[in-house]
Amino acid sequence: MNEKDQIENLRNELQQHNHNYYVLDQPTISDYEFDMKLKELQTLEAKHPELYDPTSPTLRVGGEVTKIFETQAHDYPMYSLDNSYSKEDLIDWEKRIQRILGDVKVEFTCELKYDGASISLTYEHGKLARALTRGDGVQGDNVTANVKTIKSVPLQLQGTYPDKFEIRGEIVLPFDGFEKMNAERIENGEDPYMNPRNTAAGSLKLQDSTLVAQRPLECLPYGLAGAQLEIASQFQMLEKAREWGFKIPKWAKRCQTTDEVLQFVDYWEMHRHELPYDTDGVVVKVNELRQQEELGFTAKSPRWALAYKFKAERVSTVLNEITYQVGRTGAITPVANLEPVLLAGTIVKRASLHNADQIEKLDVREGDTVSVEKGGEIIPKIIGVDLSNRPLDSSPTRYITHCPECHTLLVRNEGDAKHYCTNYYGCPPQITGRIQHFISRKAMDIEGLGSETVELLYKEGLIENYADLYELTTEEVLPLERMAEKSADNLIKGIAASVNIPFERVLYALGIRFVGETVAKKLAKAYKNIDFLMAASEEDLIAIYEIGERIAHSVVEFFHNPVNVGIIDRLKSYGIQFSLSEAQLENQTDKLKGQTIVVSGVFETLSRDELKKLIEDNGGKVGSSISSKTNFLVAGDKMGPSKRVKAETLGVPIISEQDFLLRLQ
Ligand code: AMP
Ligand code: ZN
Repeated sequence: MNEKDQIENLRNELQQHNHNYYVLDQPTISDYEFDMKLKELQTLEAKHPELYDPTSPTLRVGGEVTKIFETQAHDYPMYSLDNSYSKEDLIDWEKRIQRILGDVKVEFTCELKYDGASISLTYEHGKLARALTRGDGVQGDNVTANVKTIKSVPLQLQGTYPDKFEIRGEIVLPFDGFEKMNAERIENGEDPYMNPRNTAAGSLKLQDSTLVAQRPLECLPYGLAGAQLEIASQFQMLEKAREWGFKIPKWAKRCQTTDEVLQFVDYWEMHRHELPYDTDGVVVKVNELRQQEELGFTAKSPRWALAYKFKAERVSTVLNEITYQVGRTGAITPVANLEPVLLAGTIVKRASLHNADQIEKLDVREGDTVSVEKGGEIIPKIIGVDLSNRPLDSSPTRYITHCPECHTLLVRNEGDAKHYCTNYYGCPPQITGRIQHFISRKAMDIEGLGSETVELLYKEGLIENYADLYELTTEEVLPLERMAEKSADNLIKGIAASVNIPFERVLYALGIRFVGETVAKKLAKAYKNIDFLMAASEEDLIAIYEIGERIAHSVVEFFHNPVNVGIIDRLKSYGIQFSLSEAQLENQTDKLKGQTIVVSGVFETLSRDELKKLIEDNGGKVGSSISSKTNFLVAGDKMGPSKRVKAETLGVPIISEQDFLLRLQ
């Protein structure tokens, strides 16, 4: 088989696997096999830039950067929906429809109302051509580069489809993915995102599509717009779209009578929390498209559809006590301890109060009767206080001034919503929190040691920082509660084995604020060993692609602290990896040190990612756009003319791929 056919086969095959995995939820090969095939395709495509295809599965990983999201007109306006909050409204609406349409049978399609960000996708000749946000309904923002990375959006349709049409849907972030993202943020000392809907909408406007590709977004289509679609009903449209490869939720139902519609509403009012993502109601649509046409639109919304909004899930209960938690970074989080109450199927005992401002805004006090609401978040939130039930002796909440654990005076820096305990080395939850982070799976991954054991070891005075772990002996840990000989042995062995964990993970394990896994990798790669990193200034750090001021400041502060330096010296003496391994260092040079290089176009022998890696491996920095600071531009085939003009006006040299490779020899 020649390479052209090979590319085509791989593209088709990977497209099918994507569909099996992300749309049908039925993968037929392992992730590893998938990755290998994808790599194979990437290599072949890099060799054959002339076979470039904007719908290739290799483009799902992102890479395109959008500086400005261009506002463009929708071909067909995107309407809102009329809302109803009661069954009477719904029944009235159906009667009105029947009156307008006269003596004919009216069927309905009931769907769930997904709570995310609306999107309109244009397909031309079966290929995704454009993705626009709803905007004001008449025009929206072009977010195509980002939407392409969402795996349930087909880049190439299957079967027979209209030549050109728009399909509308909702981009959502399922709960499990949202919670995973938040767990990572908390681990990195960042504030968690508030809810899946805002996070989904925010994701569409990220400039770097690689970041969007990493978020588990899904696209759930619910409608078509276009001419000559040859489709008779809403329900048929959903079925067709499913055949073309879209992820159409299976819950839509065709209903013949008002009673059936009401049953659908009742069912989902009860069962909405079993769904993998947020919904805020049911959308009832007249099924026949011919009847829809006859009914038409008001200025704002279709007459043939109505959104029935679910009642917000809210209960009231008594707030017994406000307590305060201290995180590993010293951040204080106030927590409302509630009289246990049933909410959306689970017993709720605690709710987050976020910070001092939130408490003040709500004027919430101990003893108050409060309303608690469950959104997409794991922890429910308090949305209001029932003043008529406030005890007579109630007094305003006074936010704590001192740490509940170590009694240090709290500080709150400008721009921070939270108060912090600055007793970094003396505050127990901060000390144990740091050690727990150090041993966690993505950090040193120490087998045989868990969070509770860390607390126990600290309480017994055996450890005060993570370096102390390496001096523990079996004899010391054996007397601990619930510690058998075998587990003591495993613990010590697990700690000893962690000296092989690679440098970038050690760097992450140190627990420097804002240095998550990705940043740690970047720093490890850029500096190659800890001594160079420790000597870096804030300006040096900011010069690294995607390292901002906040991270740079935090890194410098960490390494200027003599206690941290002492701990690192000890860790070095135990043999922890503080530099990249030989294998990692292979092919790395300083040839491009201090240079910022922009890459644009399609290349002959290398993929763009390989080219970027080559730049970074040789000490250079990959710039995202051309500026006066750019040292040169590596230009491939199909480079945008505006880039060329910009480079020429700024006097930035433009070199070819071959010239670039010569420079590295
Ligand atoms: P609203 O923003 O309240 O006017 O509601 C209209 C929005 O609901 C639309 O723009 C869609 O993004 C969203 N929506 C969610 N699910 C559906 C659905 N099944 N059918 C139609 N619109 C939906
Ligand atoms: Zn403290």
